[in-house]
Amino acid sequence: MQQITVLGSTGSIGCSTLDVIKRHEQRYQVFALTAHSSVDALVKQCVEFKPQYAVISDGTRLDELQAKLSASGCGSQALAGLDGLVFVSRHEDVDTIVSAIVGSAGLFPTMAAVKSGKKILLANKESLVMAGKAFMDAVKDHNATLLPLDSEHNAIFQCLPQSYQTLHGAGVEKILLTASGGPFRSYPVDELKFVTPDQACAHPNWSMGRKISVDSASMMNKGLEFIEARWMFDAQVDQIQVVIHPQSVIHSMVQYADGSTLAQMGNPDMRTPIAHALAWPQRVQSGVKPLDLFSVARLDFEEPDFERFPCLRLAMTAAREDSTLAAVMNAANEIAVDAFLNNAIRFTEIATVVENTMSKVASPVTTDLEEIVAIDAEARVVAKSLITR
Ligand code: NAD
Ligand code: MG
Repeated sequence: MQQITVLGSTGSIGCSTLDVIKRHEQRYQVFALTAHSSVDALVKQCVEFKPQYAVISDGTRLDELQAKLSASGCGSQALAGLDGLVFVSRHEDVDTIVSAIVGSAGLFPTMAAVKSGKKILLANKESLVMAGKAFMDAVKDHNATLLPLDSEHNAIFQCLPQSYQTLHGAGVEKILLTASGGPFRSYPVDELKFVTPDQACAHPNWSMGRKISVDSASMMNKGLEFIEARWMFDAQVDQIQVVIHPQSVIHSMVQYADGSTLAQMGNPDMRTPIAHALAWPQRVQSGVKPLDLFSVARLDFEEPDFERFPCLRLAMTAAREDSTLAAVMNAANEIAVDAFLNNAIRFTEIATVVENTMSKVASPVTTDLEEIVAIDAEARVVAKSLITR
């Protein structure tokens, strides 16, 4: 029995994870579930999965959570705040953490699991973007196991030899990171400034939370994934190539020295990478239908357009730096996306806010988490000031 903590269980990845877990009651037991503020959704999950702990990160909702858990009779104990998240991430009874909180709020709870040598199934790409070197050093130092949930990184992982030391040693020449291009791949560029949050969140192939949906529409998501891949696979920046593939059937590829290109394919459903990482190195049912190649019919590929997607260019610039530029970029992006979702700025202003914040905030080289968090906080203040002006 694997004991599992799902951080961010009420979100899109969290719900898909629980859907896979409930198909395999003999293999997986839920130890803890966490949500930010959606008490009712969390209690409903506790009634179904009976975890030992339920954590609400918004501490003002603790009394409400406690009352609703006791009324439900599910027996889960209520905890709150960052302390609660960290407690269920590093608890000695836990084997596996599913890191599915959105944004920088995922950093500390995920690092707590890494530093306790757990198996980490990582969806929260923002933690690798913010603190890539510190994160990967901690994985090594604490003998943690890092498995990617992001579909592209999971695909790359599946296309690599099972135990490899370095990409070079494994004969890897290139990582081909695929991108759908999102809802605005062929939308008129001059009209992008008028698109609404709902249009940006209407992804053609994937159903996801609103923040990552906007990131996909701006292609900042691919930029974050570029940085994620750099750290996760210890890749050279020039070894990673972004390939637009509108059908989202190939989830990424690895090119080898002998001319072989390996691809992982499947229907666009996060339950496949989740089931892969949960069962690794075995395979289990995920509930995802097998790929029907006749209905897919064709696979297209295009080069990315950096004029249309300036956020991708910004992220690829940050990826080249060993400094905290990526953390500054990530923080500014979180503020800008939130402002766009609240109709405070236009879609096209997301890139402007991010770029101007990147040029205004100092980004020294550091692996000190407290320092990184302070830089993140400063970038948020600057990004907000750019928005109110
Ligand atoms: P979501 O918005 O659907 O869910 C986010 C979860 O995090 C919820 O449970 C929410 O309660 C919790 N949360 C939000 N703010 C929090 C805070 N400040 N503190 C603690 N918890 C908080 O998001 P999602 O789409 O499931 O994405 C989660 C993560 O997975 C993101 O990092 C995203 O980039 C990554 N990811 C998602 C997908 C996808 O298909 N949805 C694919 C790849 C990677
Ligand atoms: Mg992805």
